[in-house]
Amino acid sequence: MSAPPPQPDASPDRIASGLARLSTVLKQGALRQGSSQQLSPTQQQVLTLVSVRPANSLTLKDIAAHLGLKTPSTSRSVATLVGKQLLSKKTSPIDARAIVFALTPAGRHEAGITTEWPDALLAAIEELAADERAAILRMLIKMIRQLQENGDLPRQRMCVDCDHFHPYAYANPEQPHHCDYVGAPFGDRELRLDCNEQQFAPEHHRQPRWQLFINGQPPKEIA
Ligand code: SF4
Repeated sequence: MSAPPPQPDASPDRIASGLARLSTVLKQGALRQGSSQQLSPTQQQVLTLVSVRPANSLTLKDIAAHLGLKTPSTSRSVATLVGKQLLSKKTSPIDARAIVFALTPAGRHEAGITTEWPDALLAAIEELAADERAAILRMLIKMIRQLQENGDLPRQRMCVDCDHFHPYAYANPEQPHHCDYVGAPFGDRELRLDCNEQQFAPEHHRQPRWQLFINGQPPKEIA
């Protein structure tokens, strides 16, 4: 029997299979680092999200929207975390009708375990050259954004959709982008996937800036 003909490109299923192998390392790491609380994946996601947002800033609806979950299942996970005394709840300081959540000291400890990446994965990433890491980050951003645009992921707080983001504002290839919020240039390796200061850009800014970002250089008319 003859060997299958070589494929000109890496096929999507081969890449998906590679990603699935990486996700196995993530799952194994999560089990090894082990939460004494035996949290479900959804409960871990909720804890991780609350840990990276300002305390008492997220309502149940916010948590569900960010994680792309249905409100009843989010409600059950949050109730469990409150019951385990990992989350506290109180009335929102800016809306008396809303309940917001924060980590308790035990929740902060647990979130530290939950958000710790497996050593094996970090070591493998550290083996990559700096430009390879920057290229992977860029590819991940493209995939995440595509999933977001297709409605398969909730809206993310990434630089590439931020109104403060100006791709290829500078000629310096190391730091070609500009962030209005910090008023400084930055490079691909510093692109953020979840920034507290992100301000989702209106479509008439977001789409042209995205095209500029993926094309890698200013279009001729404004270069
Ligand atoms: S504010 Fe945050 S998300 Fe926006 S461009 Fe600056 S670093 Fe990126």
